[in-house]
Amino acid sequence: MKLPSYISLLATGELAARVQRLEALLEQCTVCPRDCLNNRLNSELAACYSGKLPIVSSYTPHFGEEPALSGTNGAGNIFFGNCNLRCVYCQNYQISQTHKEQIKNEVTHERLAAMMLELATQGCHNINFVSPTHFAPQMARGILIAAHQGLRLPIVYNTNAYDSVEVLRLLDGVVDVYLPDLKYAEDEAGYLYSKVKGYKECSRLAIAEMYRQTGAELVLGEDGLLKRGLVIRLLVLPNDIGGVHESLEWIRDTLSPRVAVSLMAQYYPTNQAATNPRHILLSRRITESEWLRAVSALEEMGMENGWMQEFDGAAYYYRPDFSNSDTPFKDIRDFRG
Ligand code: SF4
Repeated sequence: MKLPSYISLLATGELAARVQRLEALLEQCTVCPRDCLNNRLNSELAACYSGKLPIVSSYTPHFGEEPALSGTNGAGNIFFGNCNLRCVYCQNYQISQTHKEQIKNEVTHERLAAMMLELATQGCHNINFVSPTHFAPQMARGILIAAHQGLRLPIVYNTNAYDSVEVLRLLDGVVDVYLPDLKYAEDEAGYLYSKVKGYKECSRLAIAEMYRQTGAELVLGEDGLLKRGLVIRLLVLPNDIGGVHESLEWIRDTLSPRVAVSLMAQYYPTNQAATNPRHILLSRRITESEWLRAVSALEEMGMENGWMQEFDGAAYYYRPDFSNSDTPFKDIRDFRG
């Protein structure tokens, strides 16, 4: 069995050095592109309401990810609390936008490492950090401790893509699988619906760095599960708010048509999208014709790898109660017959 690359970094001492460099960014926080410059080591909170210690809302084997991640025993999901974005339609808003509640879920780095080892003991195929951006240094510290104690599973970085390139460079060889959501092809939508500036450029720079590290090919083990690579998720939003066509064009032209994409139909209105009339364009599920337009864009761009959800399978995973369900994904190549 090929070991994850963080094991080589552990052996040379490089993993510990990377953790220190990542933690140094907390002193005047530039861990994400918001660049708040607050001192998180001194518990000064800013846009993500997150300080020195990691916050874990939930950890569990999860069966609703793409098949090469869920496998038969599940992905080992660790859901961090809080977030550096404020998506008005966030499907996990109970944990991403409730910082007063989430502070109760603060844990030590040692406890975070113990959770990873517990998921490994339960037979999970990987450790899948959900919303890791604002806790990247804490995540790396947890991996260092867990690796010392025997963790050998691939690390999945399941992110909103509003990530700092400097942080991602420090995660080179620490993270095995990048799983970014590419949310918008326009800054205006990022500002209106996720409350951040410059989403388009930041997310594209971040994903280009992920691609530099992994390339387009997915490395699968003998068990058919994903050990290394990049999978870009595209959630189809109503009224073409995400700009899926433009994002696919960018992936094809700037990265490669061989990059794996995961096209998702599961959107449903929740959080402010369900209640605030200002966000009426997001107040319904997608229509079948919107979904088929996104699927046609995949074909038009000649994208060769990845998965897509069944249109009827919408909203089957990332449900707020984190309950598991059968995967609604199918392989892009199967769809083409
Ligand atoms: S990680 Fe949090 S505190 Fe740091 S720059 Fe981003 S939003 Fe600000």
